[in-house]
Amino acid sequence: MSQREPLDDWSIDKAAELYGIREWGQGLFDVGADGTVQVLARNGSVHAVSLLEIAEGLRQRDLSMPVLLRIENHLDAAVRRLNEAFAAAIAEAGYRGQYRGVFPIKVNQQRHVIEEIARFGRRYHHGLEAGSKAELLVAMAMIQDPESLIVCNGYKDEEFIDLGLRARQLGLNCIFVLESEEEVELIIGRSRALGVRPAVGARLKLGTKVDGHWSEDSGDRSLFGLNTQQLIAAVDRLRDADMLDCLVLLHFHLGSQIPNIQNVRAGVREACRYYVDLVEEGAPLGYLDIGGGLAVDYDGSRGGSPHSRNYSLEEYCADVVEAIQEALDPAGIPHPTIVSESGRAVVAYSSVLLFNVLNVTHFEPGPLPPAPPADAPDEVENLAALLESVNLKNLQECHNDAVYYLESLRMQFRRGTVKLRMRALGERYYLAVLQRIVALLPLLDRVPVELEHLPERLADIYYGNFSVFQSLPDFWAIGQTFPVMPIHRLDERPTRRAIIADLTCDCDGKIDRFAHPEGERRTLLLHPLRPDEEYYLAVFLVGAYQETLGDLHNLFGDTHVASVRIDENGGFHVVHELEGDTIADVLRYVEYDPADLYRRFRNAAEEAVRAGRIRVAERQQMLGAFTESLRGYTYFER
Ligand SMILES: *Cc1c(COP(=O)(O)O)cnc(C)c1O
Repeated sequence: MSQREPLDDWSIDKAAELYGIREWGQGLFDVGADGTVQVLARNGSVHAVSLLEIAEGLRQRDLSMPVLLRIENHLDAAVRRLNEAFAAAIAEAGYRGQYRGVFPIKVNQQRHVIEEIARFGRRYHHGLEAGSKAELLVAMAMIQDPESLIVCNGYKDEEFIDLGLRARQLGLNCIFVLESEEEVELIIGRSRALGVRPAVGARLKLGTKVDGHWSEDSGDRSLFGLNTQQLIAAVDRLRDADMLDCLVLLHFHLGSQIPNIQNVRAGVREACRYYVDLVEEGAPLGYLDIGGGLAVDYDGSRGGSPHSRNYSLEEYCADVVEAIQEALDPAGIPHPTIVSESGRAVVAYSSVLLFNVLNVTHFEPGPLPPAPPADAPDEVENLAALLESVNLKNLQECHNDAVYYLESLRMQFRRGTVKLRMRALGERYYLAVLQRIVALLPLLDRVPVELEHLPERLADIYYGNFSVFQSLPDFWAIGQTFPVMPIHRLDERPTRRAIIADLTCDCDGKIDRFAHPEGERRTLLLHPLRPDEEYYLAVFLVGAYQETLGDLHNLFGDTHVASVRIDENGGFHVVHELEGDTIADVLRYVEYDPADLYRRFRNAAEEAVRAGRIRVAERQQMLGAFTESLRGYTYFER
């Protein structure tokens, strides 16, 4: 890092490089000349709005931090890009078929997200994918276009199938994807009972294995889909029931966030072999559904990690189209409509988690006395002497000694032979030694293994007003990293090395890994806090999977949500605000009755009045505060 360069050497470009925003930002986020993060809306021309301005605008509307910000322009842009990229690849290759996208509702079920995808996507006949009855009800209500698809995955009971058949009666193109053999019988039975011909797809269990987080779930051990034997049985059963003409779609889903384009190609190629043979068996088909998996380049490394991808959207589309042509053309089979179920890539960029920093803990000794006092124990004397002797040649040795003296000092404290104040002084010398070692590490050619993580151990802890468990569940659950950075003061050199802790006081409630194009970072450079001024940080690319997996750890509830749209004049307006959970809301989730809690508290207060511990007026104030809290936000409020 460039910490040793003179201060005037800092620039906006350096800030952009430090946080990697021009790599992971994909042209949707950048640093502006005023040192704030800019949100760029691209629709022909480019309109930029400062994220700080948005954060302050939300605050004026009483939406206090933390806030999940949705940028509708980015959602529209992603739907447009996906559809146009497939259209371009199809035109380029002379492919004789179309593309139909479906958005898998599970990736972000929030009404405003689904409504916007359905509204904006209509021009492309972009449909929805449903994995449960609840999601099917949403899809049936949101999609009115007979050209758009509703693809039903997941285990389906009778009611699920009846709903889908009703949708077909209404003229919607609702397709049941067979997840298991039993579903064939159920679909045949219900279709006869209701007198509606179904549209059926088969989910293939491919042998293709993928790289990345979900690699174990791909291949023969994948959890869902039909193996070859089950597929043949399903085809035979449909033929017996005179319904083979209903088999219109083949589907596979290799897993989410596929980092390697070779896996995508291999999957498509294998699925096409099934396609050819099933057409020859007499199934009409016509749709090839390649599932999700289109990855997001969370760290901007272009393939350098599982949180990235080694291909562009354009390459993905071209490879899919080409792989299908290569497989079907020799067999003389007409090109199918290509269906994809991209979720992550469509919504990730549209949400940003904004929060303020409440406080910082430093691991610094503070001003030390010129020499330890006369009555200091040997260990303190030794630590003080060590501080003077640290140099480039003895870093490891000094570290070893410092650890040894400190341990011995603490031992004496436990025995009662060293006083608290002496232990505190010794610990400060110890920290000073470590800080001096850390300052010299960048000058070494090779850092000793034991000292590699020393900078993290001395990093500041910035306390953020949010909960990892509520707002970034994948960070905690599957080690997903996201880009994190300040949204302002970027024209100022950040000098503090830090990790971020949340409000939960849980060991896992922290962000200590940060996505970066040159490899994951264990600390983040941040600015020192200023008195009476908010310091805002943002976690980017959190639109996919983070909103409904979150839990109520420590009873921190849903954050406020604000959807904004950036307009042509470089302004923005809040198109939708959703207040986060109140304390009463989260208490109800875990079965408390706020009215009952209030009654208990009132009784206790009345008891105190009777016993003369408080006055009646105080009782009233207390009851007022209690009620006020029940109505309030679960996060830290200034
Ligand atoms: C989760 C899921 C998707 C979405 O995958 P992304 O990687 O988010 O695009 C698509 N199809 C099925 C069947 C899924 O289970």
